[in-house]
Amino acid sequence: MSTDVKRLTAVLAALLLTALTTTAARAADGGTPSAGQRIASSLRGSPVYVDEAYADAVPPSRQRELAQQIRRTGLPIKVVLTPLTKGDAFDGDSGVLAGTVRDRLPDQRELILITTDGDFPDSLTGEEWPADTHQTRDAVSAAGFLDETRDAGLADLTAKAVELVAEGKGTQRYEEAVKDLGDDTRRREEQAEERAESASGGPVWWLLVGVPVLALTALATRTAVRSRKPAPAVPQLVFATARAADEAELRRRAEAEVLALGEATRAADVSTTRGLQHALDAYAAAGTVLDEARGLPDLAGVLALVQEGRDALAGDDDTALPRCFFNPLHGRAALRTGWRPLGRRDRLDVAVCQECADALRDRRAPEVLTDTDEDGRTVPYFELPAERSAWAATGYGSLTATLAGINSRRIRAR
Ligand SMILES: [Zn+2]
Repeated sequence: MSTDVKRLTAVLAALLLTALTTTAARAADGGTPSAGQRIASSLRGSPVYVDEAYADAVPPSRQRELAQQIRRTGLPIKVVLTPLTKGDAFDGDSGVLAGTVRDRLPDQRELILITTDGDFPDSLTGEEWPADTHQTRDAVSAAGFLDETRDAGLADLTAKAVELVAEGKGTQRYEEAVKDLGDDTRRREEQAEERAESASGGPVWWLLVGVPVLALTALATRTAVRSRKPAPAVPQLVFATARAADEAELRRRAEAEVLALGEATRAADVSTTRGLQHALDAYAAAGTVLDEARGLPDLAGVLALVQEGRDALAGDDDTALPRCFFNPLHGRAALRTGWRPLGRRDRLDVAVCQECADALRDRRAPEVLTDTDEDGRTVPYFELPAERSAWAATGYGSLTATLAGINSRRIRAR
């Protein structure tokens, strides 16, 4: 009898241990234990896995075409198209997705994986094991930068990525695509320099900064009209900015905006204004930046902070878009988009006005706000090192959730 009890206890203990081990293993792969396994199992049957969320974009007929295209390459390519969001089984990270799927395919020593990119919806990223022999990473990145895929759907984009991986010249293709974008930027800069040289009098740096601002007149007007949700005080300011086109005038307007925000916060109902503290923080930061402002980039920062404060008062601080990343003097952004800085492989998620979005789509360089680097050269403000410019670090609210917490000592390292 006691032997039976012991045996039973041993069996129960073993069962408990198994259960604990299984739970631990599940917890270790991040919340939804079945997601990676489900994808891997599916990939054993077909090299193309498409989550039902993308079933319209890549219907079964296109999936079969892609699978045939992949088989013809003779390469160990697998495609995983699944939405990625923070907090999901892969925490919205394409790297975690790729690693998980690969772990579930242990017999697949060589693997080329093309997946959705966690940072930018409807874009792709590629990874290859054991080494990047087919230049997969660059090939898949290049696919999204070609004229022919500008308006392509996910199915066509995937087909192009497979084609470029099979071609095996991904790095060259990527560099060509980036160079096309770069040529456009350089042409603009040369034109700006010619204009500056032909003008007489006045410091050259001012012309470099001032000319693009003058060119904004029509653009800012249109942007203000087309912006998704203009804050009450912004449109007049945009018009005023475009008319004045000089730093002193912009400073005066920024001062007026800061004062108006201060009045609005004082008038706000403490009990019902959820974002009041955020608005007060933004107001305080705007005042500090204004006091220390040395030029257009800082004054643009004041406008960005005022906008943020007004959004907080209106209760829109979680949803409203910041000002245009490329030039905050364009006004409030109309949409968010992925943008890859020249010479960099990773893309940034930035908020842009409609004009800048159109420029990106047409492979034109957007009109950017410039700043001076430590050698006195005029460069796009976002090209300054983040430790030297708070605006490069934050993208005026595109790269950070809020500006209100900005540390005044970090506005600009001097
Ligand atoms: Zn813009």
